[in-house]
Amino acid sequence: MGADVKVAILGAGFAGLCMGLKLKAQGETSFVILEKADRVGGTWRENTYPGAGCDIPSHLYSYSFAPNPDWPEVYSAQPDILAYIEGVVEQHELSPHIRLGAEVTGAAWDEAAGRWRIALADGSSVTAQAFVTAWGQLNRPKLPPIEGRETFAGAAFHSAQWDASVDLAGKRVAVIGNGASAIQFVPEVAKVAGRLTLFQRSPNWIVPRMNRPYTEAEKAQFRAQPAAMQAVRSEIFRMAEERLIAKRNGTAPVEEVPIPLAHLHAQVADPELRAKLTPDYEIGCKRVLISNDFYPALTRPNVELVTDAIARMTPQGVVDGQGRLHEADVVIYATGFETNSFVGETALTGLGGVSLARAWKSGPEAHLGVTVAGFPNLFMLYGPNTNLGHNSIIYMIEAQVGYVLQALAQGRPLSVRPEVMAAYNDRIQAELAHTPWAGACTSWYKTPEGKILNNWPGTAQAYAEALARFDAESYEEVRAAEPAA
Ligand code: NAP
Repeated sequence: MGADVKVAILGAGFAGLCMGLKLKAQGETSFVILEKADRVGGTWRENTYPGAGCDIPSHLYSYSFAPNPDWPEVYSAQPDILAYIEGVVEQHELSPHIRLGAEVTGAAWDEAAGRWRIALADGSSVTAQAFVTAWGQLNRPKLPPIEGRETFAGAAFHSAQWDASVDLAGKRVAVIGNGASAIQFVPEVAKVAGRLTLFQRSPNWIVPRMNRPYTEAEKAQFRAQPAAMQAVRSEIFRMAEERLIAKRNGTAPVEEVPIPLAHLHAQVADPELRAKLTPDYEIGCKRVLISNDFYPALTRPNVELVTDAIARMTPQGVVDGQGRLHEADVVIYATGFETNSFVGETALTGLGGVSLARAWKSGPEAHLGVTVAGFPNLFMLYGPNTNLGHNSIIYMIEAQVGYVLQALAQGRPLSVRPEVMAAYNDRIQAELAHTPWAGACTSWYKTPEGKILNNWPGTAQAYAEALARFDAESYEEVRAAEPAA
């Protein structure tokens, strides 16, 4: 594996690996996947908190080209998803193309050479004709700016940096935040903690989790008849898309709000607790969560839900807006991620030495979520406005990878025309303004000013159709600059 390749890929999560797998399937050998960690898996390597799992059914939340008849449950848990990813890497013999412990610190387009120069934290570098960033949208943990946070004397960690060496048995545990991560681990921690105090800033809409194990007979059938497994996948996909279409058209067959409200009423008898858990914003504004054990956990005698704003932290614990100190031995931050950057701290420089930070001074945007004007042969996977609230991101990633392969097949450095990128973004921002995400709530999908940077406005299929054919006419060829005299 040399230091010069056709394609360099940043990240060995679902997206970066998909790019590598597809290149390999085409017979390409000149590519490298640069991964900062010592193991593949991306978000599924990082999030090891108890109860971690995916809320998209596994037969859909997997590569279309690597179906898995052995998914243990409808919604599989993190260890099973990580094992799946590692299994695919092994089966497709991708490891020789993966460099672990290779952290990309920056990359610059070398105009004379017509290549990306990619710098690594160890001081080495890689050059490549094309650079594919598969950075993820949820990999930079965000800690809350609470006064006195640093003074807390006990153990403290973020949900995505779970410290398994901290024994929670019998401890007083404070949890800050109640999003998709918290609602998965709170029930598990509540079982062992002496006391759990959950600080909620805003409640979520929560629907039942229709999970069940697959029987051995079903798994045997999936192994013997891949078409049966494909039918299950297609049905999950179809139902997800239809729910979105019905909601957008106002023709949802069942009114949506009664489902989560009935779920809350069935699981929480105390009217005061129910009131605290009832959202006051439109369903779908934040991600709708799925859980059967979160509400019951909150009714345990050792669990308290605090809805007063957090005033500050002290060495002893968390002080709420009423001035009450909630003493804690351990604080767990389930406060989400820095989600609006798409390349984190990675310094990228394109044509004319312009940094991505400068190109994005009004906020991240890309053409189809993949290419950025002024950055030739830079391709983003799971980039701006490609997240979904209703369907599998892996489906979106596969559409992006197919598009990138077509772009690479053009065999010349291409940069998307600025006016094409601008028109595309005007169009999707206009569509996004009519979605529930634009409603009156905070969420990781948008900036504090309310611009939705993360989500795609339509169906997953509409996105795949938009990327099915590489639109060469949207691009201009970038010619090598004359070397400086
Ligand atoms: P999140 O959805 O962004 O939730 C962060 C939580 O922290 C929210 O409750 C937020 O309150 C609260 N918070 C943030 N800053 C705070 C502050 N300064 N003071 C008090 N509270 C604060 O993060 P997440 O739960 O890690 O989930 C992120 C995304 O990851 C999910 O939406 C999902 O896409 C993915 N995920 C998926 C699964 C799954 O598939 N089951 C599991 C975990 C994560 P507000 O709501 O008031 O802002």
